[in-house]
Amino acid sequence: MDVHDYFAKKEWKFIKSFADKHQTPFLVVLLDIVKEKFLDLRKHLPYARIFYAVKANPATEIITLLDRLGSSFDVASVYELRKLLALGISPDSLSCGNTIKKKQDIEEFYKSGVRLFVTDSEMDLRNIAAAAPGAKVFVRVLTEGFSTADWPLSRKFGCQTEMALELFLLAKKCGLVPYGISFHVGSQQRDISVWNAALGKSRYIIDWLREEGIELECVNMGGGLPGDYIEKSQSIETYAEGISHYLEENFTEGMPEIIIEPGRYIVADAGIIVSEVVLSAKKSKTSLERWVFSDVGKFNGLMESLNEAIKYPIFCEAKGELEEVIIAGPTCDSMDTIYEDYKYEFPADLKPGDRLYWLSTGAYTASYCSVEFNGFPPLKTFYVWRKP
Ligand SMILES: *Cc1c(COP(=O)(O)O)cnc(C)c1O
Repeated sequence: MDVHDYFAKKEWKFIKSFADKHQTPFLVVLLDIVKEKFLDLRKHLPYARIFYAVKANPATEIITLLDRLGSSFDVASVYELRKLLALGISPDSLSCGNTIKKKQDIEEFYKSGVRLFVTDSEMDLRNIAAAAPGAKVFVRVLTEGFSTADWPLSRKFGCQTEMALELFLLAKKCGLVPYGISFHVGSQQRDISVWNAALGKSRYIIDWLREEGIELECVNMGGGLPGDYIEKSQSIETYAEGISHYLEENFTEGMPEIIIEPGRYIVADAGIIVSEVVLSAKKSKTSLERWVFSDVGKFNGLMESLNEAIKYPIFCEAKGELEEVIIAGPTCDSMDTIYEDYKYEFPADLKPGDRLYWLSTGAYTASYCSVEFNGFPPLKTFYVWRKP
């Protein structure tokens, strides 16, 4: 692969000279790119309020940067909540987006001043009514699109339309504010028309509830916007155009308030994991297959290579004739094989110490590490500005 398909020459020179000063493995995130992604998204979806999904990369540098740019935040747990509050983020710009939570956690969110909660079950809704009286609730609905998302999320979260209607009615009865519909079409969603199906469902629910005297104000479209991996996806302009068009079609007489919760799109392309080759080996003299062992693997940053779901572009500096390889991580666990079905090609004479650059690894990597499995520490991280 050509690294200049991803980074301009100058930018790559900066990354290289930074990387050369540090021992592998580590993740370096360019904050310039995070900023650019956020501003691009705001430009292309100007009507949407952006809640960054903190779980994608909860680094302090990213949170404070996005806060400065005017982002709000989608928060997955009380631990993220405490971190954001400690950084001085206002509770007005937080929403509790996890549908799976303890009653005492809801209480903590509420006492901290958070008033937006997402639910998808009666038990959770009753907990919200008890621990967060008068709060605004979103009901999350199931969506299509499992097969076209690289990292589908939808089956665990959300409920069927009929149950959503019942939950909205119950929310009103319990003194909560039925505020909006939320959905998530699946992370790294490649089929833009999946948003259309979800918005059509939203429209149906909004109309049905209006007959019951409930006026929903908001549609929360979740995440799903892409990072730039081996399998190409459309540009953010194309996503935004498609989604805007579907919104206009489904809401001809005026759009509800719109929220989006990008995680991956904001941070993925800003990150580069730098690793080095530990060893490479064949299992027999005549074997066609060469194994390449890297000092980064599934347990210290590359969790999303599970089932080869996310395929990162890997740039290898060594030159030479290319051959297909199996790439694996450094731990004593055979599950720590990274790519075997998908054939990456590396130079045949790869040596220990040769560096591998895993591009578009800013999302769901450092925050997705095991702690000291086999004694390996979590991934080191650096957050840097190219142009301060
Ligand atoms: C994880 C998550 C997101 C972010 O999804 P991406 O596909 O990374 O943009 C958004 N909203 C909710 C509720 C989530 O759980």
